[in-house]
Amino acid sequence: MTAQVLDGAATAKTIREELRAEIAGLAERGVRPGLGVVLVGDNAASAAYVRSKTRACEELGMQGETLRLPASATTGEVVAAVEAYNVRPDVHGILVQLPLPPPLDAMRVLERVDPAKDVDGLHPENVGRLVQKRPRFVACTPAGIMELLARYGIAVAGKRAVVLGRSDIVGKPMALLLMHADATVTVCHSKTRDLPAACREADLLVAAIGRAGLVRREHVKPGAVVIDVGMNRVEDPRAARELLDPLRLPDFEKKGYALVGDVHAPSVSRVASALTPVPGGVGPLTIALLLKNTVRAAAARS
Ligand code: NAP
Repeated sequence: MTAQVLDGAATAKTIREELRAEIAGLAERGVRPGLGVVLVGDNAASAAYVRSKTRACEELGMQGETLRLPASATTGEVVAAVEAYNVRPDVHGILVQLPLPPPLDAMRVLERVDPAKDVDGLHPENVGRLVQKRPRFVACTPAGIMELLARYGIAVAGKRAVVLGRSDIVGKPMALLLMHADATVTVCHSKTRDLPAACREADLLVAAIGRAGLVRREHVKPGAVVIDVGMNRVEDPRAARELLDPLRLPDFEKKGYALVGDVHAPSVSRVASALTPVPGGVGPLTIALLLKNTVRAAAARS
C-alpha cells in the first residue's frame, strides 16, 4: 500500500482563491484587510516565515506589514509594538512571531494583543473560547489541519485520534478541535511511556514534536491517516539519506539542506492510508488559515 498524499499546498491554494471573492467584497466597502506582524531578533527561520506570510497577504491584495525589533528589545517594548497595532484601524490582524528571544515573556506579550485582532488564536480569551467550544480565532496550524481533513472527506467522529505533542500552538488546540469533532483523543508527549504502542491506537495520528523522522512504521496502525506537522531542517548528508525519499536527494545535494517532518515518510507511507508531505502539507495551510482569520477579522470590523 502507498499512502494517499494529502496535498496541503493545493488545498491552501483553494482556500486562498475562495478568499479573493471576500476580499473583493470588502474592497467595495473600502476595506483592505491588514495584517501587522511583530518580529523580534534575527532568527533566520522566523524571518523567512514572516516573509512568506506578508508576501501571501500582498498576493491577495491584503496589507502585510512587519515591525522589526532587535533581539535586545524588552518585553515592554514588544508590548508597546503590539499596542500600536491594537489601535490602528487599518490593522485587523496581529501576529507576534514566535519564539521570542529569551528572556522575553511571550505570555505577557500575547495577552496584550486585542482579542478581536488575535488571528493566531493565542490570547487567553480565544483559547478559553476554544475550550468552551465557541471559538472565535483558532490557532492557524490545527485549524488548517481540520480544513484539510474536511476537504478530503476524512471523517473524524468516533475515530481514535492521537496528537503527538502538547504545545499551546499546535498540540493542545489540535486535541480540542478533534475532541469537539467527536474523536476520542489521546495526547502524547515526551513523558509518554511506550510511545509506539500509544500511537498505534490511532486511526488519525497528528505528529507535532519537532523531531525529524521520529514517527516510524511501528508507530502507525495500518490504514491510519497521518498528519505531519513537523518542520525540521536537515543538513547532515547521512541523516538526509536516512530520512528522505531517494527522489529528494538530488535537491538536497544542490541546496545543502532539506526540510523533513516528524514522520519518517519513506516507511510510514507504506502503512498509512494517507499522509501529508513535508514540505507542501501543513505549512501552506497554516498560512492560508492566517489569511482567512485576517479577512474574518476585517469583515467583523467593517
Ligand atoms: P514545541 O513547542 O517544541 O512542542 C513539542 C512537543 O513535542 C512537546 O509537547 C514535547 O513534549 C513533545 N516532544 C518532544 N520530543 C518528543 C519525543 N521524543 N517524544 C514524544 N514527544 C516529544 O513544538 P511546536 O511548536 O508544537 O512544533 C512542533 C513541530 O511542528 C516543529 O517541528 C515545528 O517546527 C512544527 N510546526 C510547523 C508548523 C507548520 O505550519 N507546518 C507550525 C507550527 C509548528 P513535552 O511537552 O513533554 O516537552
